[in-house]
Amino acid sequence: MSPPVSRIASDERLPAQADVVVIGGGVIGVSAAYHLARKGHSVALIEKGHVGAEQSSRNWGWCRQQGRARAEIPLAREALRLWETMQEDAGVDTGFRRTGILFLTKDPQELAAWEQWAAIARELQVHSTVLSPAEVATRVPGNTDKWVGGLHTPSDGRAEPSMAVPALATGARKHGVTIHQRCAARGLETQGGRVSGVATEKGTIRTHAVLLAGGAWSSLFCRRHGIALPVGLVNATACRTTPAPDIMDGALGTDLYCIRRRLDGGFTLALRGRGTVELAPDLFRYARTFWPTYLHRRKGLKLSFGKSFFDQMRRGTRWPLDAPSPFEAERVRDPAPDMSLVNGALAALIAANPTLKDLKIAEAWGGTIDCTPDTIPVISPVGAMPGFFLATGFSGHGFGIGPAAGKLAADVVTGDTPLVDPAAYSHQRLIDGRPLAPVGLF
Ligand SMILES: Cc1cc2nc3c(=O)[nH]c(=O)nc-3n(C[C@H](O)[C@H](O)[C@H](O)COP(=O)(O)OP(=O)(O)OC[C@H]3O[C@@H](n4cnc5c(N)ncnc54)[C@H](O)[C@@H]3O)c2cc1C
Repeated sequence: MSPPVSRIASDERLPAQADVVVIGGGVIGVSAAYHLARKGHSVALIEKGHVGAEQSSRNWGWCRQQGRARAEIPLAREALRLWETMQEDAGVDTGFRRTGILFLTKDPQELAAWEQWAAIARELQVHSTVLSPAEVATRVPGNTDKWVGGLHTPSDGRAEPSMAVPALATGARKHGVTIHQRCAARGLETQGGRVSGVATEKGTIRTHAVLLAGGAWSSLFCRRHGIALPVGLVNATACRTTPAPDIMDGALGTDLYCIRRRLDGGFTLALRGRGTVELAPDLFRYARTFWPTYLHRRKGLKLSFGKSFFDQMRRGTRWPLDAPSPFEAERVRDPAPDMSLVNGALAALIAANPTLKDLKIAEAWGGTIDCTPDTIPVISPVGAMPGFFLATGFSGHGFGIGPAAGKLAADVVTGDTPLVDPAAYSHQRLIDGRPLAPVGLF
């Protein structure tokens, strides 16, 4: 079931030409389009379904610096600032509130790792506090579990995924971005090895710069052009509850369940670290690169072999640009939720918080996460094709970082001074075939 997402109108006419074409109307593509337009460039945003309908409206809504890999902390810090300024500029509520994020643990070793992380974060101007059991008790009154401690970042926040990306798109439009929904990009046109246009189902847009922010579809798009992008697809499940008593604001992560307070008074709820990996030919191709990450995360992962394996075989990679492409065949990717995870999450939440005993599930949904081997995104030019850029592979934590990742992508496309050092996000690191391991805490 798709969670509801606010709808925005499309621009009627596809432009014949644009300085930059952005493919993908999720948080990354919309934010990048916004920043490109603010720099004075003409921008067309192309979306095969509708804005925000895939991962960007299905996530938990956590805007988190906490626990990020060292390389991502500066970008996450900038993102929290940009959530505020972009929301104000759009004049439409994204649901963003700085209500803090709290993680709790029963494991002293995990707490020690959090202490080390907090010291690194402090060097990068992010202030997180390691909490004693007594301090935890004051933050989650009524919680009956025995915690050895917690990690709290008051400057972290939350936003409403069903509202946020359409609101940011309204802001992008104010600066001149044209938005084209139900308009799949089928592939790139090139001249002399450089990008010269984008072939869409509604015609071609001539351009010298294309930014692909296609989430779970980016790797397939790249393969059409012989460009390797190692990304594994993981189906995750989340749900929302009925309105809940006021046990906490903000977001709370435990060893089992994770909750985030919603504007409608309920929680967005899920089990931590769970998902189903879709086995597909691409994943076998990149197995060596992914192996360390798989070993690290396998406890929470199921493997699924079936439809997506054969879909990928059937699709091939060489579809013509003047006929319907695989992107038109699935307007909105809408995997079924795993109800065993939904029921398990509710049971764990109520067991630890008896005051929530009357809570019910109001809605559950699935979403497909695009995971790179080191769980760090790619925000980078593609060396093999001048004029082609990537902002993708956000590995389950791209929503909160989205406004700044879009700004960095815009800087990379235009060659301006980057918001933060983009070295950690290079495409090249993923294609030299070395095994890579995840580097964040969560
Ligand atoms: C259950 C779940 C929980 C999560 N929780 C969090 C969280 O709490 N915090 C956090 O930071 N992150 C979270 N994430 C991850 C976060 O949602 C994603 O990292 C982020 O939304 C990725 O944004 P995106 O723009 O790259 O991709 P998407 O939002 O998936 O957007 C990509 C868009 O590109 C379009 N597209 C693709 N190919 C084409 C084409 N050829 N032509 C036209 N359009 C195309 C698609 O239709 C889609 O709309 C979660 C994800 C899930 C699934």
